[in-house]
Amino acid sequence: MRRTELRRKSPMRRTGIKSRLVSTGPDTATVDAVLERDGHMCAVGGHPLGPVRGVDWSIHHRRPRGMGGTSAPDVNLPSNLLTVCGNGVEGCHGLIEAHRAAAYERGWLLRGGDVPSQVPILHALHNWCYLTDDGLALMAPPPINRDGDLDFGGYWADQEASDAY
Ligand SMILES: [Zn+2]
Repeated sequence: MRRTELRRKSPMRRTGIKSRLVSTGPDTATVDAVLERDGHMCAVGGHPLGPVRGVDWSIHHRRPRGMGGTSAPDVNLPSNLLTVCGNGVEGCHGLIEAHRAAAYERGWLLRGGDVPSQVPILHALHNWCYLTDDGLALMAPPPINRDGDLDFGGYWADQEASDAY
């Protein structure tokens, strides 16, 4: 019974074409660089990451892949990528999607014409910073008047209560 499953998976591993099959996402080295920069935690809320990428955590595109041209060269650079807990519907990844206005304000989402490395972001580990194309975080002055409070549990709860968006 289990043999069919194994047979299906092993040819992909052997041929090593996995990266070509998922060519719309960042490569492994880029994902590693983003994880390293983000301290292997959720860059939005500082949450620990579970074991399974795509379920417990994801690599979030600040400017979505479909915007600014699918072949925009910076879409899969570290400047455009963020480690977040959850997935499209759960955790901070889900909350970004559910609270888009707040996410734009904090640089977690970008608009079509934005250059990711030039838009500051509120980061759980680095606070307000610029994310560089080569995987660094550079200090930035806060663009909005907040006191640096990173209590995102309360923050998200407030957002949900007031339904500001
Ligand atoms: Zn989180």
